[in-house]
Amino acid sequence: MEYQAKELFAKHGVPVTMGVVVENPEDAHDAAYRLGGRVVIKAQVQAGGRGKAGGVKLAESPEEAVAKAGEILGMDIKGHTVRRVLVAPTADIAEEYYFSYLVDRTNRRYLCIASTEGGVEIEVTAHENPDAVAQVTIDPLVGVDDAKAREIVEATGFPAEVADEAVGVIQKLWTVFTEEDASLVEVNPLVRLGDGHLDALDGKVTLDDNAGFRHTDHAAFEDRAAAAPLEAQATAKGLNYVKLDGEVGIIGNGAGLVMSTLDVVAYAGEQHGGVRPANFLDIGGGASAEVMADGLHIILSDPQVQSVFVNVFGGITACDAVANGIVNALQLLGDEANKPLVVRLDGNNVDEGRRILDEAHHPLVTLADTMDGGADRAAELAAAAAAAPERT
Ligand code: GDP
Ligand code: MN
Repeated sequence: MEYQAKELFAKHGVPVTMGVVVENPEDAHDAAYRLGGRVVIKAQVQAGGRGKAGGVKLAESPEEAVAKAGEILGMDIKGHTVRRVLVAPTADIAEEYYFSYLVDRTNRRYLCIASTEGGVEIEVTAHENPDAVAQVTIDPLVGVDDAKAREIVEATGFPAEVADEAVGVIQKLWTVFTEEDASLVEVNPLVRLGDGHLDALDGKVTLDDNAGFRHTDHAAFEDRAAAAPLEAQATAKGLNYVKLDGEVGIIGNGAGLVMSTLDVVAYAGEQHGGVRPANFLDIGGGASAEVMADGLHIILSDPQVQSVFVNVFGGITACDAVANGIVNALQLLGDEANKPLVVRLDGNNVDEGRRILDEAHHPLVTLADTMDGGADRAAELAAAAAAAPERT
């Protein structure tokens, strides 16, 4: 979010005007009063185009700040509910520029995209006036040194009166990009103020969470409320879960097997009224009762799920351990396990695994011999369950 990006900017010396973040309209009064009365109220959501959506409003007084904050809080911007607004001093804007650093994977380089026509969507400028958008590649081994910063300033066409300051700001933004392990740093607009100085009026930073272990402070930036609740639960349990839009819950081990299972279920579903996979869930190497129970719990919390297909290949964790995991998980879940489960096991100790499931004789569990057979059965059960309410 903008205010978080600005915190990172400030930490690395990029000029910003911070303001105050509030979560209810009344608090905007005090914030606006302290900032001198005239303020801008800005929706804090992980989406751009807030201005156009009505999420950026000027207020002339603390009273008006309360009213405007009230209008913006709770607003929906591109599917994001506004829970916070930034109350910031109004800026005396002379010019608006666009500036960004990003990863150019195709060319194995970093890329700077900048334009003196900022404030609007850069995609629009790039389309309507491509000459106004500069692209400068950055050698990762060299980075943005003084010479590169000057090259960027020249290529962008920053006016002479801000050129020197721009060289410094550009290098500081590069520090944000590299030291914070970002994959995107975007400032739109970077403005020239009436007094001639530059100011990052808006900011967007994408942090690479593979580098999260180096940045304990980054966890605080995560917007837990914005993440899908089931996905947040799964992350908390260390499970790799992605909610999809179908009826057949999927549990497997190994990303490749789970991906294939999604395909096979989608294919089988075509024969059963078009039922589809409900999720991606990779339980990884372990298949203990807890992991199985956690996985099943999350899948069964999705009201769209009508059946579950467990497709596990026994490797280091052999099939008998997986079978015991399933049996014990069903016991742990009790009444919560209320949808038919199709289980296909193969690999290490498969016979023992099947024997355990056979013997447990759980009324919800069906064993399948093959992946295709299991997918077909699970799709069929889901289709039958989905059709059931219409019959009653
Ligand atoms: P976005 O629409 O989500 O990109 O939000 P921005 O923070 O970029 O704001 C959109 C536009 O609102 C900017 O391009 C500015 O033109 C305008 N704006 C934002 N803050 C101020 C301010 O303090 N004063 C004035 N006059 N305009 C502002
Ligand atoms: Mn912007």
